[in-house]
Amino acid sequence: MAATKRTDVNTLGEFGLIDHLTKNIQLQNISSVKGIGDDAAVIYNDNLQTVVSTDMLVEGIHFDLMYSPLKHLGYKSVVVNVSDIYAMNAIPKQITMSIALSNRFSVEALEEFYEGVQLACKKYKVDLVGGDTTSSPKGLYISVTAIGQAPADKIVYRNTAKVGDIICVTGDLGAAYLGLQLLEREKQLFQANPGVKTDLEGQDYLVGRQLKPEARKDTIELFAKNNLVPTSMIDVSDGLASELFHLCTQSNVGAFIEEKGVPIHDDTQLMALKFKLDPITCALSGGEDYELLFTIKPRDIDKVKFLPDLFIIGDVVDAKDGVKLHTTGGNIHPIKAQGWQHFGS
Ligand code: ADP
Ligand code: MG
Repeated sequence: MAATKRTDVNTLGEFGLIDHLTKNIQLQNISSVKGIGDDAAVIYNDNLQTVVSTDMLVEGIHFDLMYSPLKHLGYKSVVVNVSDIYAMNAIPKQITMSIALSNRFSVEALEEFYEGVQLACKKYKVDLVGGDTTSSPKGLYISVTAIGQAPADKIVYRNTAKVGDIICVTGDLGAAYLGLQLLEREKQLFQANPGVKTDLEGQDYLVGRQLKPEARKDTIELFAKNNLVPTSMIDVSDGLASELFHLCTQSNVGAFIEEKGVPIHDDTQLMALKFKLDPITCALSGGEDYELLFTIKPRDIDKVKFLPDLFIIGDVVDAKDGVKLHTTGGNIHPIKAQGWQHFGS
């Protein structure tokens, strides 16, 4: 590998570093009155409600720098936060980014991270308006707060699904989980034999879903265009099963899911079988898909039926009927909060 330049962060100092990393930032939203540079950012929301969400990413827990490029990590740390804002049917407008890092990280490494951050900010039209930079004894910590806005009557909560509503999901599920399994497998092979060539050939889709996920900005825009307000919504960060339980518990309802309705990508199907996993288990218990799970009134079904990348997967039922899966084999199983396993392993 070619020698890369390594500048110690101490050569710039904390203020120099912040300035260096954020000097190119241009505000994109009129609601961003004041961005980086003062004691606090200033946001103008007119008559809209403000939606706020924070997520923290910890090295060794949420990401592994052995296979996660810093640019992707920067991108992903923004995406997972704006996804939460979309899950409220709101539009993300600003983020703040706080990082704690050890002296293992160079200025160049942070530049890469911020390249990813800024790429995501452009793609999702959010302004980076502040943050904090500090040191850590070991490892990288990333905390992002996303701020969005929406009219009060458009905000969608988790606790408002009603019996008879139709359950829908976007995109496809389980791919990010299998991407992670692939990366973990390669890591272990590499650790056992550092000379080994990685074999991720042809697995761009699965690996990409894990390392560089996208949030469903397009879906929220489609809702607005089609005058559709879901009755409840949540983003799929911990697997379909877990999110169904959140919606059902909070709304005091049950769910009846058709396995054949659950969208699973061909690459996910194939790789699941190679790992001796059931694809539906990956969809139910995997995570980090960042798709949207939502419910709609039956009368709105025509509004989603023909929309791209939206799938009807089941019905909201009475709470006493629980959360169940009707398998392609014709059986009905209760879905467990942590998912549901064919192989019982
Ligand atoms: P204070 O001492 O008031 O906390 P800082 O020196 O930490 O101020 O921050 C100066 C400005 O830079 C503030 O606007 C802050 O929000 C912003 N900032 C600090 N760290 C980051 C970061 N990692 N990313 C983006 N903005 C940051
Ligand atoms: Mg500070």
